[in-house]
Amino acid sequence: MTSSPKVRVLENSYERIVLDFEGVTPALLNSIRRSAIAEVPTLAIDEVVFYNNDSVMWDEVLAHRLALVPLKVSPLEGYDALRDCYMHGNDCAALFVLDEEAVERVKTIYSGHLRFEGFEGLVGGPARINVEPVSKKIPLVKLARGQRLRFTAIARMGVGREHAKWQPTSAAAYRFAASVRVISEPDEETAKSIAAVCPRHVFGVEDGRLVVKDVGACNTCRECQDRFPEYVSVTWDSSRARFTLESVGGLPAWKILVTAMDVLEEKAAGFVEAVEAAIRGAGPEN
Ligand code: SF4
Repeated sequence: MTSSPKVRVLENSYERIVLDFEGVTPALLNSIRRSAIAEVPTLAIDEVVFYNNDSVMWDEVLAHRLALVPLKVSPLEGYDALRDCYMHGNDCAALFVLDEEAVERVKTIYSGHLRFEGFEGLVGGPARINVEPVSKKIPLVKLARGQRLRFTAIARMGVGREHAKWQPTSAAAYRFAASVRVISEPDEETAKSIAAVCPRHVFGVEDGRLVVKDVGACNTCRECQDRFPEYVSVTWDSSRARFTLESVGGLPAWKILVTAMDVLEEKAAGFVEAVEAAIRGAGPEN
């Protein structure tokens, strides 16, 4: 009988979620990690129609820059409606316009100059869905005096597997929990040297004895083991891991994680269905 996994949330802010998992295989953690990076749909600028571009930057380069501006959908139910729209194969596009001119002096055009105009296609969900750049301070291009920039940008839903502009995470990683053991008792002086060598203060010396007082702080650098191999051993436990996920700002980190697991669940259900249908189609063997 397998024991159920244990999960502990260590940090849960908008940008970052950190969890400790126990009793979970590396394969499962890696599937969640890959799903978060490559399978969670997000909105990104996908097409730009230029009417005026007097700047020194070519249309293609500027369009590429625009695509990399992370976009935030609010409220969160609006994101769910867009995801539904995308999953049903519909083209639910968000339209932005920008019309700026450098009249008297050089003007820097920022992501904040993008103006959301609404959606093309039926999105559903809440009555009012807003889309805006995660930061209004991302520089896009500089216009010299007299230059004008005017375009319509079309943002579409997509996944990181297709292009990095749709990737919702800036980091998704896990590391196994360290296992630090004192394999033979050093004398007090050596114990103090071992404790001093550790940059993360994992060891302590109590009553003259070397003790592991904070194994959670160990980053498995192995400095202690390299310097004192006869006294300490550092390995890792692949059934316990710390999982960290950081958002680029378009979605809360927890939402990326939950959606990544939803995607995995849907894929697994589709796979089970396909296998069962194939078995039914083949008919009974006897
Ligand atoms: S592996 Fe590095 S961090 Fe971990 S206990 Fe040894 S010295 Fe400290």
